[in-house]
Amino acid sequence: MSRHHRSPEWYRARRVVRAVITARLTRGEHVPCVNCGRPIVLGERFDVGHIIDADKGGTLDPSNLGGSHRSCNRSDGGRAGAIKTNAASRRARRLPRW
Ligand SMILES: [Zn+2]
Repeated sequence: MSRHHRSPEWYRARRVVRAVITARLTRGEHVPCVNCGRPIVLGERFDVGHIIDADKGGTLDPSNLGGSHRSCNRSDGGRAGAIKTNAASRRARRLPRW
């Protein structure tokens, strides 16, 4: 999981999906969280999550990715590695901790 989240493919896919979701929210479209199914609200911070988890064979194709509430994406146990990886990359890139 962690290695997966460090791959350049993941960063690229995540950036694309995030832009698409933001555009959809801006147009007023309903974008459900891939984890809980409740809508993501425009202006709310969200993560990009897998519809089918990577360790269950899910791919980085945008069709397998979607918005996820930060609390949802980071709460379930299988994603502990992702939290660690995200925190590390944030430090590496000197981005603010939002
Ligand atoms: Zn959610």
